[in-house]
Amino acid sequence: MRDSRYDILFEPVKIGPVTARNRFFQVPHCSGMGHAYPRAEAAMRGMKAEGGWAVVSTQETEIHPSSDFSPYSEGRLWDKGDMKRMALMVEAVHAHDSLAAIEITHNGHAGSNRHSRLPSMAVSEMIIDSHDPVQSYAMTRRDIANYRRWHRTAALRSREIGFDIVYVYAGHDLSLLMHFVSRNRNRRTDEYGGCLENRVRLLREVLEDTRNCVGDTCGIALRFAVDELIGPDGLLCDAEGREVVEMLAEYPDIWDVNISDWKNDSQTSRFSSEGFQEPYTAFVKQVTGKPVVGVGRFTSPDTMVSQIRRGILDMIGAARPSIADPFLPDKIEQGRPEDIRECIGCNICVSGDMTISPMRCTQNPTMAEEYRRNWHPERIPKARSADGVLCIGAGPSGLEAAMSLGRRGYRVVVAEARDMAGGRVLLESRLPGLAAWKRVMDYRIGQIDRLDNVEIHLNSGLDSSQVLEFARELDIRHVLCATGSQWDREGIGREHPDPIPSDGSVTTLTPDDIMETGHVTGNAVVYDDDHYYMGGVIAEALATQGTNVTLATPAADVSSWTHNTLEQGFIERRLHDIGVDIVEKHRMAGIRDGKVRLEHVSSLKPCTIDVDSVILVTARRPLCDLYFGLELNPDGRREAGIASLTRIGDCLAPATIASAVYAGHLYARDFDQEIDIDSVPYRREYIKI
Ligand code: ADP
Ligand code: SF4
Repeated sequence: MRDSRYDILFEPVKIGPVTARNRFFQVPHCSGMGHAYPRAEAAMRGMKAEGGWAVVSTQETEIHPSSDFSPYSEGRLWDKGDMKRMALMVEAVHAHDSLAAIEITHNGHAGSNRHSRLPSMAVSEMIIDSHDPVQSYAMTRRDIANYRRWHRTAALRSREIGFDIVYVYAGHDLSLLMHFVSRNRNRRTDEYGGCLENRVRLLREVLEDTRNCVGDTCGIALRFAVDELIGPDGLLCDAEGREVVEMLAEYPDIWDVNISDWKNDSQTSRFSSEGFQEPYTAFVKQVTGKPVVGVGRFTSPDTMVSQIRRGILDMIGAARPSIADPFLPDKIEQGRPEDIRECIGCNICVSGDMTISPMRCTQNPTMAEEYRRNWHPERIPKARSADGVLCIGAGPSGLEAAMSLGRRGYRVVVAEARDMAGGRVLLESRLPGLAAWKRVMDYRIGQIDRLDNVEIHLNSGLDSSQVLEFARELDIRHVLCATGSQWDREGIGREHPDPIPSDGSVTTLTPDDIMETGHVTGNAVVYDDDHYYMGGVIAEALATQGTNVTLATPAADVSSWTHNTLEQGFIERRLHDIGVDIVEKHRMAGIRDGKVRLEHVSSLKPCTIDVDSVILVTARRPLCDLYFGLELNPDGRREAGIASLTRIGDCLAPATIASAVYAGHLYARDFDQEIDIDSVPYRREYIKI
């Protein structure tokens, strides 16, 4: 039974000629699948509709080959040939009585046309956004007329496909319409440039075009970034951003408002909290009589209700919370909000699009596996035997495996060496800005607590003979090692196949030491050969305690992989702000006489830094002694009645928390199944030949 406080979230909302059955709106978001994997895309969107999202949107959908985002795989509606693919998603969404929305767009100079090879056109002459050595030409009036026709055609095709809502997209610094509006991009001197009225002209025309084409049966949504966060050179929510909303207040049937660019809109929990966009977007409802949807990593029903009651939003927009839990609305409706798998705000999902691969989610291992593996986030096949499993280690992989096996109905005993479950998540969530990551363990421990067939034993570090004893005593036939990994103490990593030479004159630590004890005094060098978040966050932790920190890395950027999670600029700025010295493109040549010797990666020019401590953030070493102790003792296993021994997660191959969770889930799904390792373990999408 739903808590009556949340009733308001389930009121219908009229969006022009269509009506959303509740206030949950999955706003457009990339998936790394798009036109390359249309069935997977459709199944993923359909799952959101099944989970209660009243509106489910596509990602940005290119309307013409001159707006070609290759190699990124977004939506594509270039011609009639694309309609069938897009229809798969509409069918999947309609099957659950939700509305399907499409975000049609032309990217202007944000696309690179690598596939189509057409010249790039933009609001003004400029270098294109990607690092290709290519420039865009400024659109003529004829180009503008062509663009308007393509947009109208795409809107008509969208309606024919069955979409209920058609977007006009002016957000993220990615769409031509936003480029026209923004003084930062628009250098035109004709009637489409100069004063704001002129810069808004094309957006107004396209809104009118879209309404004239499809507005009688489709809702018209306008996605607009009210602030570019670049000061007076761009849109500001209390200046031109607001004026645009005032000018176009009643034009769309719904306003979908956010901030630009994508990295600002999709900030991670390290840099912003739930509802962070409110200071920018709150004014919109005061200006328009139309419903307003907005985002802010909303996972708490109380926050959602507050947004509506306080007149900030009419619909709760979500990309990431709907990825982490496609069934978030249903769980609130069914009176079980504690079952929500809350987004942790890590942007691993974003890294899918950025690395041109189907997205994955740290919290939801079934994400993007709905079609190819037929995985459902809330349903899992029942147990096929009464076998028991001993899971050693309660990190993300062990907890996910235990929870999912438990849901299947298997008896699971988890042995954890520490006095708390959580593994690396427990430790890492204590680092600056990473507190929300604790949700990975909190969710799983909370779910396991309610399963009678899963027990977690803390303070239970096991060696191989104890495992055999346990298995015998408890009649356990399957042993799962999820014992994790440790950071390498000798600096072995990408740049260093061998240990970094050291005369022992400097205290050498790893992130594990910092997370356990937390303190370093004097001068420290954090050496980051890992390139994800750990080097930057350790530097931040130490600098905020008063240590003089230099962060050295062979990469060209601090925490360079975090370009894929949209965090790199934020991390670099924060390190600068707190006084961390940054030395890029330098590898560590050695440690001698109380000094760290660095050398430039290409010129080999050396430099030295006097230090008291070095923190090596390089490779991680799987903790697999226990596994091999058992693996190399087949007689002992046979005697103990152990039928299978498996290792997963970081103790097999250290990777992200998302990978560990996935490994745990895969183990639980595959358990008791015949797996043919000679064939592809999932369905593929073939192009018909
Ligand atoms: P993963 O990311 O693969 O889940 P983690 O390092 O996060 O790995 O978690 C591994 C967990 O296993 C840690 O909490 C650790 O304390 C526990 N662990 C490691 N070795 C043993 C052992 N021999 N017995 C019991 N628990 C162990
Ligand atoms: Fe949230 Fe991280 Fe999942 Fe993305 S990957 S939806 S940010 S938990």
